[in-house]
Formats: sequence, C-alpha cells, structure tokens
Amino acid sequence: MMSFASSEGKFTNMIKRRISKPVQIGNVMVGGNAPVVVQSMTKTDTRDVPSTINQICELQEYGCELIRIAIPDMEAAQAVSEIKKGVNVPVIADIHFDYRLALATLKNGIDALRLNPGNIGNKAEIKAVVKAAHERGIPIRIGVNTGSMPKNSIASTKTPIVEQMVKIAMNQVHLLESMDFNLIKISLKAFDVPTTVEAYKSIANKTSYPLHIGITESGPPPTGDIRSAVGTGILLSHGIGDTIRVSLTATPHEEVTTAYEILKALNLREYGPTLVSCPTCGRCEVDLVKLALQVAENLRSIHKPIKVAVMGCMVNGPGEAKDADIGIACGKGQGILFCKGKRLRTVSEEDLLTELFTEIEKLI
Ligand code: SF4
Repeated sequence: MMSFASSEGKFTNMIKRRISKPVQIGNVMVGGNAPVVVQSMTKTDTRDVPSTINQICELQEYGCELIRIAIPDMEAAQAVSEIKKGVNVPVIADIHFDYRLALATLKNGIDALRLNPGNIGNKAEIKAVVKAAHERGIPIRIGVNTGSMPKNSIASTKTPIVEQMVKIAMNQVHLLESMDFNLIKISLKAFDVPTTVEAYKSIANKTSYPLHIGITESGPPPTGDIRSAVGTGILLSHGIGDTIRVSLTATPHEEVTTAYEILKALNLREYGPTLVSCPTCGRCEVDLVKLALQVAENLRSIHKPIKVAVMGCMVNGPGEAKDADIGIACGKGQGILFCKGKRLRTVSEEDLLTELFTEIEKLI
C-alpha cells in the first residue's frame, strides 16, 4: 500500500504525496521529501560533445535538474567523460540493448542509468552492469515503455497492457534486488494517457521506489503539452510522481517550461513568474493578446516566483486578479497599475508595459 505525506511549505494545495524511497542522483535528491524533480533529454548527437554540452547548459538555464542523453554506440559512451567535464547538472545515460555501453558510461562518470534490463541481455550481462553501478553508488531507472516491451517478458497477448507493464517492471525490480541493488527508480510510459495513469497507480501500490512520470511521445505543442498535463496532472494530484519529463516534439527547453507549468498549476513547485491574464470580453478596449504576449516575453528573464496580471478592463480586472503581486488593468488610452487588487496609479496606455516592469523590478 502507498504511504502519503502532505505537500510542504506555503503551498495552499493539500496534495498528499506518496512517500517514496529517496535516491540520490549526483547532487539531486529524487523521492523522499524532495520536490518533484524536472527532467529533460538532449536532442543533440551525443557524440557531438560541444553541441551536447551547450544544450545541457541551455536546459539548466531553464531550470532542468536532471538531463538524460542518448547513448546509441560506444563513441557516445566515450563522450560522457568530456560532456561531464563541461556541465554541472547530473547526467543520465539512456541505454538500450548493449550492456557494454552501460559499463562504459559508468566508467566515464555518468550519474545514473536509464535502461530496460529486459532488453539488455542475459543475466550475467545485467549482473555486470548492476555490480558496476553498485560499486559507484549510481542509480538505475528501470524504464518500461509500451513501444519497447521485451517480447519474451510478456505473459500473454491477452493480458491487459497495464498488467503487462507492471509485471515487467516488477520482475526487473526483483531481479535487481536479487543482486543486492536498491538504487532504483521506475518509469512506465505509454502514449495513451489512461493506460499510463493506471500503470503508475498500480505500481505505486506495489513498491516504494521513486517514480519518474511522463506521457511518452506526446507530440508537438500544444497537443503534447495538453496530453502531458492531463496525464502527469492526474498522477501528481494523486500524489504519484517524484520526477517528471514532458516529452515534446519541440526544442528541449519547452519540455522544461511545460513541466514547471504543470507543477506550478498544482502548487507542487514554485519556479519563475506566473502570468495571469484574462480571456477578454466585450468590456476590453485594448489589444490585450498583444500586450499579454509582450509581458510574457519580458518575464522570461525573471526567475523570481511572482504573479503578474494583465487584465482587459479597469472595472473588473483588479478584483479578478486580486491575488497577483502586481498587475495592469487596461482601459481606453490608459490603464491602472495594481498590487494585490489595490490601485497604485493610472498610467497612459503606451507606458503600461514600462511602468509594469519598473514595479516588477522594485518587487524582485
Ligand atoms: S477583466 Fe474585464 S475585460 Fe477581462 S474578462 Fe474580466 S470583465 Fe472582461
């Protein structure tokens, strides 16, 4: 059975998070009382060390806390030592089929492995990887994905897919435990949201290892954002999920931004500004869409967790966004600046953006 703890801090949300075993990846704690950790994956050719380092650094600037890199061959595995020298965020090696790649990345200083023991090979090869990881205190994520489930592990094609995913993962957990290894993290990903949700709910009741959650191959934005938000949002609201990756067909930093927006929406993390803007209606007399996009763009350079409102009318705007730290409400040719619903001053329309950011600078 799952054990739960309340979310901590000033969050108003009372999500009871599943209590999982903490696992340390480099300097980042996953599980236990740690906040939900944001992950992404590079899209560069790992053998291209400068490009991979650049993308890792860019992801880190956007707040990514764990970064996975693909290891398709030995050249990529050997590149790990150079990549590690150029970054200061934990790096996870994504390995399929060849246990020698896992051994090489471990030797080259990788911080964690993501592999599917079911497609790694025979027991002796898995044992060699587990032994090398154990000696270095390196965690392994057992990643079961509906698209790459080992055929020989599937009990029967009539067995429901969720049952198959959980069974495969638990078999692999038991295999690693039988080798005296418990630095384990688990993921069970599918494209189908209900399948993913049911699989995680099921395994969350069977083990206390931390869970990495996400909807795999969820597509480009906005579809991918929405599928990811619905799937991970359901899980997180049930307290399930210790790390999150939003898998988008997009630039990798968009994955990070979306992951934080999901966590912020559930009050599970605070990260950067939150923009509140109204949908507009017949009372709006300015081009609010343009203004909101300008504010959003200017907020990108701000990392403090402040709430900023951009509202379409002076009559209802300040009240509708009264919990915003700072905001503007627009009228014809002018608008007002307000703070926590209280009017600060009236400003001409052309100065609204500048005045808003002058106040934001004061606040932060
Ligand atoms: S703030 Fe004003 S313009 Fe915006 S939706 Fe509300 S009433 Fe309409």
